[in-house]
Amino acid sequence: MLEERQYGPVVGFRAARSFLGRGYYFTAAYWVDGLLVDSGCSFTDGELLRALPPDRRPVTTIVNTHCHEDHIGANGLLQQRLGSRIHAHPLALPVLDNPHLQPLQPYRRVFWGWPRPSRGEPANEWIETEHHRLRVIPTPGHSPDHIALYEPQRGWLFSGDAYIGGRDKAARGDYDVRSIIRSLRTLAALDITALFPGSGTVRQNHPADEILRKADQMEELGAQIHALHASGCDSTEIRNRLFGRETSLYFVTLGHFSGIHLVEIYLRAAPDSSGPASTPVRFSGGGGAG
Ligand SMILES: [Zn+2]
Repeated sequence: MLEERQYGPVVGFRAARSFLGRGYYFTAAYWVDGLLVDSGCSFTDGELLRALPPDRRPVTTIVNTHCHEDHIGANGLLQQRLGSRIHAHPLALPVLDNPHLQPLQPYRRVFWGWPRPSRGEPANEWIETEHHRLRVIPTPGHSPDHIALYEPQRGWLFSGDAYIGGRDKAARGDYDVRSIIRSLRTLAALDITALFPGSGTVRQNHPADEILRKADQMEELGAQIHALHASGCDSTEIRNRLFGRETSLYFVTLGHFSGIHLVEIYLRAAPDSSGPASTPVRFSGGGGAG
């Protein structure tokens, strides 16, 4: 299913595979002035194509914020039908070309599916549309190939998955938490009027403050985790104390997202500044894809 909503000249799409009329694990794409930022999941590629008629909403350019399957899903169909040029981080290009280079756990195949191949080119520092110039900002952490797009005249930030709202209770094992926090601080320093994130929940009420709060919150969580670790707690004890039991996400993703991973990505990262030096921590399996 595909929902659309207008934010001034920007059209926001929320896309999800639906089961019995209900969508699960929405992802987002945004269209403005001939530019499409991300393309949703493969299951909604036909709906997205129909929502982008060339006379009203041409798609000259697609920019992928990163190569996760829920952001590149309609690339292949749109490029084939509309002739769009696709830009992404150089690290994303081999996956665009051959999506099977990125292993998909069962839940990812069920909710977002395998994208069709597409051909991309490296994103330069600026993306130009007829009326706008958007700066490409490297924002690694969620994935090494992550970029965000910022339109300084209008204060629009298309942040992909660099910013995920709410308090974390689970994570993938391959997140680089130090880089996530650094990227959040980079984004929070921008003058932002509207935040268009990968979840599709658009923020227009002091978005930079919200991004900064998330960075601070993650920093605090890291300090708590390192303090508990220094006092002798192992990952399971730390998880139990800070988050309680695993959430439904753990079961849906068969452990690809877990509270234990969330603890361990912090333990793998050096604690901030003067804290005790972290020794390499055993990393339990199950993560590492994508
Ligand atoms: Zn992602």
